[in-house]
Amino acid sequence: NAPVTDSAVSAATSVPTASLAQRLDAEPWYRPQGDELAQFSAAAAAGLPVMLKGPTGCGKSRLVEHMAWRLGRPLVTVACNEDMTAADLVGRFLLDATGTRWQDGPLAQAARLGAVCYLDEVVEARADTTVVIHALTDHRRSLPMDKKGELLQAHPDFLLVISFNPGYQNLSKELKPSTRQRFVALDLDYPDAATEAAIVSGETGLDADRAARLVQIAQASRRLRGQGLREGMSTRLLVYAARLLLQGLPWASACRTALVQPVSDDATLQQALLDTVMALGE
Ligand code: ADP
Repeated sequence: NAPVTDSAVSAATSVPTASLAQRLDAEPWYRPQGDELAQFSAAAAAGLPVMLKGPTGCGKSRLVEHMAWRLGRPLVTVACNEDMTAADLVGRFLLDATGTRWQDGPLAQAARLGAVCYLDEVVEARADTTVVIHALTDHRRSLPMDKKGELLQAHPDFLLVISFNPGYQNLSKELKPSTRQRFVALDLDYPDAATEAAIVSGETGLDADRAARLVQIAQASRRLRGQGLREGMSTRLLVYAARLLLQGLPWASACRTALVQPVSDDATLQQALLDTVMALGE
């Protein structure tokens, strides 16, 4: 790898995209589900790209934030969508009053700086977009910037992390094997009840008793997956419910707003979930 010189780094930081890289000063709190911290750390130390799989709101982004903080590296997060082009990741020439100037995209910026680059919901991006990450994920660790005529060598600290939700996958939105087999993969899921209650309490300060009951409601909703519910209640929604309870909202009201209504529009299903809420109520 070509060493990244100070001037290369300062050139990257002098462009406005520098604000994309977030340096985390305070520790983002993360409660492990299993041995994912050891696995992630080992992958980072070995310079291997990481794929996080798991349902929405189960802690994937929080894990990445926590690991970026642990590693002492800046974090660049990109929420992927189907309109995203390779140029959105790599960079483009911009026209301004003084002429044209190059602006690094988030991926190029992270590769230059030695940041963690997190491509959230990567399956949303089209295959011709995701292909730009290929050379960064193997021994080349480089990013071809064709329009600029540069082959960017990634900084040794650069780490690529992608995430997706396997539950949402359909054939048109699946990572190609040639892409996915470039990553080590961590399977995350909603944690066991005790861990999830500890997350809800630890994140919000809600008492253990109510946190445990919120988790029971979520677990009941997850059993309805496929029976009208596309996805059960996430840990994120439990955190929301806890925050509403701590604002003083009554149990039924907090659970309806934060748990039931976000996951379903169907009156019958909502009523079934509300029955569970009331059965576990105060
Ligand atoms: P994802 O990226 O999987 O959609 P997030 O990482 O954004 O989900 O998690 C959603 C929220 O749930 C977080 O903001 C945090 O409040 C909480 N959370 C989930 N899992 C954990 C965990 N293991 N430790 C701490 N907080 C968690």
